[in-house]
Amino acid sequence: MPVIKQYKCDGCGAEKREANHWWAVTVQQIDTRALGGEDDAIPAFVLTELQRAEYCDIDITAVLCGQECVAKRASEFMGELKKEADARAARHKDGVKQ
Ligand SMILES: [Zn+2]
Repeated sequence: MPVIKQYKCDGCGAEKREANHWWAVTVQQIDTRALGGEDDAIPAFVLTELQRAEYCDIDITAVLCGQECVAKRASEFMGELKKEADARAARHKDGVKQ
């Protein structure tokens, strides 16, 4: 018997129904060293269709019901990265002063 997963939107709490077209977000760490970069872990916001993500072994960070909730989650992700970048810049500035 197939297992039917029940999903709730991590944005608004809505329940997924049979025909809804939902989205899966995974936050992955990208190692750029093989690509000529210096960072071993750049966080990346990866968005795909939930229906397709279910069939592979993806570690889903958030399940989202639609464009509005995806946009909100993307905005939060961007805010986190901006905060980290600002903290890095502040540390660098302090380092230069000393
Ligand atoms: Zn939602």
